[in-house]
Amino acid sequence: MFRVARRPSATTIPMLGTSLKQTKKGHMYMRRKLTAGNWKMNGNRGLMAELGTLSGSQSADAPEIVICPPHPLLTRAIDATSGSPIEIGGQDCHAATKGAYTGDVAASMIAETGATFVIVGHSERRDGHSESDETVRSKAEAAWAAGLTAIICIGESDAERAGNDTLQIIAEQLQASLPDGATAENTVVAYEPIWAIGTGKVPTLAQIIETHDMLRGELLTRLGDAGTGIRLLYGGSVKPTNAAEIFQAENVDGALVGGASLKAADFQPIIDALAAS
Ligand code: PEP
Repeated sequence: MFRVARRPSATTIPMLGTSLKQTKKGHMYMRRKLTAGNWKMNGNRGLMAELGTLSGSQSADAPEIVICPPHPLLTRAIDATSGSPIEIGGQDCHAATKGAYTGDVAASMIAETGATFVIVGHSERRDGHSESDETVRSKAEAAWAAGLTAIICIGESDAERAGNDTLQIIAEQLQASLPDGATAENTVVAYEPIWAIGTGKVPTLAQIIETHDMLRGELLTRLGDAGTGIRLLYGGSVKPTNAAEIFQAENVDGALVGGASLKAADFQPIIDALAAS
């Protein structure tokens, strides 16, 4: 059955959970804050109760919220959040529209469930499935063609951070993974240091500010004014205890959250911290 995507229309959302900013040329623009939960290979239908709790807890000024469960749970997650502002996304898609790709899922299949987002280029795909920047870029283009917003992940390894190569590495990853034609509507970029994912380690606020400011500059140089509207998420061990500090950074528009998105009791304080930032 084809499901109609529940993406809120641009005319109905812009004043909620947004931050109003000004470009150097004096143009005003808004980036709606966004929290995305990546369940990875976790969850079963029992976890839908957490989505029910989250659905019932959102205030009118809540940021945009997306949950990305494993693909077999997409339809259940859509049903569990029906009537709520929570959106649903996939965790990966294939670059092709169909064909002999056993085990893979096309972006259009994700969109048909009613999902509106898909994560591409997560480090667990880049490392575990040998995905190159070029592959990630093709997947983002496939996501756009299916009407999905691509959450494009980039991030440096422990060794690259130790070697002082972070800024260069993630600038190169961004440029090579981001297709031409990226806009605020079709693209979100998530900066996720690999060494911070699932480890409890988090960069300092100064390091997060440095990377996100650099990424904003790269987006502006590449895309012009369109680069002001693309949201930049931080990801890597975001918890209720550190979220408020991370959200102080001007170019952090939200978070991509793994472990702490599995329980409403952990995810809700992160959403609240973002709303208050
Ligand atoms: C992630 O999987 O994208 C992630 C950031 O995980 P965690 O929050 O558990 O570090």
